[in-house]
Amino acid sequence: MERLLGALMTLAKISAAEPPVVTRVVFSEADLRARAYVKGLCAEAGLTVHEDAVGNTFARWQGSEPGLAPVGTGSHIDAIPNAGLYDGCVGVLGGLEAIRVLQQLGFKPRRSIELVIFTAEEPTRFGIGCLGSRMMASVLTPAKALELRDKEGRGLEELRGAAGFKGSLESVKLSAGRFHRFIELHIEQGPLLEQEGIDLGLVTHIAAPASMQIVIEGEGGHAGGKLMPGRKDALAAAAELILALEAAAKSSGAIDTVATVGVCEVFPGAVNSIPSRVRLETDVRDIDVGRRDGVLETLNKKCAEVEVRRGVRITTHLVNADPPAECDAEIVAAMERAAIEAGKTYKKMVSRAYHDSLFMAEIAPVAMLFIPCRGGVSHRPDEYASPEWIGAGVHVLARTLATLAS
Ligand SMILES: [Zn+2]
Repeated sequence: MERLLGALMTLAKISAAEPPVVTRVVFSEADLRARAYVKGLCAEAGLTVHEDAVGNTFARWQGSEPGLAPVGTGSHIDAIPNAGLYDGCVGVLGGLEAIRVLQQLGFKPRRSIELVIFTAEEPTRFGIGCLGSRMMASVLTPAKALELRDKEGRGLEELRGAAGFKGSLESVKLSAGRFHRFIELHIEQGPLLEQEGIDLGLVTHIAAPASMQIVIEGEGGHAGGKLMPGRKDALAAAAELILALEAAAKSSGAIDTVATVGVCEVFPGAVNSIPSRVRLETDVRDIDVGRRDGVLETLNKKCAEVEVRRGVRITTHLVNADPPAECDAEIVAAMERAAIEAGKTYKKMVSRAYHDSLFMAEIAPVAMLFIPCRGGVSHRPDEYASPEWIGAGVHVLARTLATLAS
C-alpha cells in the first residue's frame, strides 16, 4: 500500500499546475513525463512495455501459456485541467500494484496479464473522450481521427509525432479476442458507495451518452420596438425544447434515463435584443439504447413541431451516440467471489459516467470495479479516495485477475 500511495503522490506532482492541482492534457509535457514515470514502474516490475501509434501503452506480465489471449486491466493517466489525482490513476497504478502483489505471492498466471494505459480518456484536447480506446475498438476510424484538431488547430498527426508516437494509425485497431477479459478499477465519481458505507461497486452496466447539437435560428430585433405578435424568438423556442427533453427523460419509465442541456449559447446576447440564434448541446444517457434513442426521437419530433409553430429554423446534429455496454457476467461473478473472500462489502451498480471500458466492450468481455470517493467529488483538486478504499479495490482486483488468468 505504501508503494502504491507513494506512486500516486509522485504521479500527482507531474502536472502542468501547482500541486495539489493536477492538469495533464494528452501529449503535453506533463503527460509525457507521467508516461515515462509509469513505464519505468512497469519495467521495474518486470513487465514488457509496448506502445501503439497513438500512445496506448501495454505492459505485459507473461503467462505460462503466452499464446493465450491476455487478461487486461488498466485505465488512463491524463487529467482535465484543475483535476485531482485519483480519476484514472487508481486504475493504472492500482492495476500495477495488483500485479506486483500477485508476483510477490508467487502466483504464476497461465494467461498473460496486461496493464493498459489508454491515451486521452479525457476530451480536453481533441473534444472527444476515450480517443485511444475508441481507436482500438474501431469506433473511431483513422480517417476521422486525423480530422481532430485541438484549440490551436494542431492535429492528431502532428501532436502524436511530436510526442514520439509513429506508425500507421490503422495498426491501433485491435481484433475481437485480442483480450480474453478486461477489467477497469476506477473511483465511482458519484456518492452512492460512500453514502451507503459500501467498500466496492461491481459494475454491471455502463451507460452511454448520445450528444446532440441543436441550432435554432429565429429573427432578432429591438426588445422594445418589436411587439410580441409575430416574434421569432430563438431562445423562447429553445426553452420549449429544453423542457421537452427533461419531460421525455422523466417519463421514460426508468430511473436510468438522464438528459441534460449543458450548453445554451444565445446570440447576440444583449438584454435589449431579441435572441436571433441559439445553440444547445444536449446529453442523453441510459443503459438501454432503445430507451435512450426514444428520448432523442421525442426531442426531434418536438423540434419539428416548434419549428413550424414558431416559424424558426432548427437544425440538429448528432455528435455521437455510443452504445451502452453490459458487463460480462463471468467477470462480475469473479469480482463477487473475490469480494466475499476478501471480506469486503459490495453492491452491483451502473456506471453512469463512461470510461475506456465502454469501448473495450466492443472487442472484449469487460467489467468495472468501483471504489468510493469522498462526497462523490471528481474532476476537482479535492477529489479523494482513502487508502482503505484503494486497498480494498486493489485486493479484489488482484484476486479477480488471478481467477481470470488461471
Ligand atoms: Zn477516469
